[in-house]
Amino acid sequence: MRRKLVCGNWKMNGSLVSNAVLLAGIKAGLSQSSCDVAVCVPAVYLAQCQSALTGSGLSWGAQDVSAHASGAYTGEISVSMLQDFSCEYVILGHSERRAYHGESDALVALKMQRVIQSGLTPVVCVGESLAERESGQTEAVVSAQMDVLLAAIDAADLAKMVIAYEPVWAIGTGKTATPEMAQDVHAILRAKLGQKNGELAQAVRILYGGSMKPDNARELLAMPDIDGGLIGGAALNSADFLAIVHFA
Ligand code: PEP
Repeated sequence: MRRKLVCGNWKMNGSLVSNAVLLAGIKAGLSQSSCDVAVCVPAVYLAQCQSALTGSGLSWGAQDVSAHASGAYTGEISVSMLQDFSCEYVILGHSERRAYHGESDALVALKMQRVIQSGLTPVVCVGESLAERESGQTEAVVSAQMDVLLAAIDAADLAKMVIAYEPVWAIGTGKTATPEMAQDVHAILRAKLGQKNGELAQAVRILYGGSMKPDNARELLAMPDIDGGLIGGAALNSADFLAIVHFA
């Protein structure tokens, strides 16, 4: 049985003051939660999360990390720096990083290797664009993304990764994949994982991301291969985020 994970992606939002309110709201509503819950915040706020969330049952993490261990990489943040702030998760290969920062599948795979070696959990994003979906390429696109990731991971480490299926056309747009559409792709992703190790593929959590909200979360999270959500906009409001956690 896979334990569901609801992970907030705050993107480039927040301030010390607004974060304190949001984190307090989430913490206050979390006691009954039977799934894993995390927030991935801008790196400058990791210290705030560590101090606000230690012992709360809520985990925290980053939205990206360097593929390098240390050195002359101005502006980058290493995995060991994230560990200094007790991060548990790192989002990798988000479509916004791929689109605005030119991150390739190969770079995402390198980052994933480093994150897994360090003992943190990567939440690796894959997904197709609208043009790719409309031209019937969804399976080919996500399979190609998975091939690069799977070539970079030992079969024994498979269950250390979390995959997030995020159709690019659904992110921040208010358009959501129907539960059936999402389930179809999740099943494709699990079959790909199964080519590496059939047993461990059953343990890998595959999250759905793309305008998941309280009013669509229940149906999405009821699908057999949807093991949680990667939540953008709705993660910035504690009531909405908690409602999704509740459905998980
Ligand atoms: C995301 O950015 O990972 C995301 C899923 O955003 P939203 O929920 O706002 O679509």
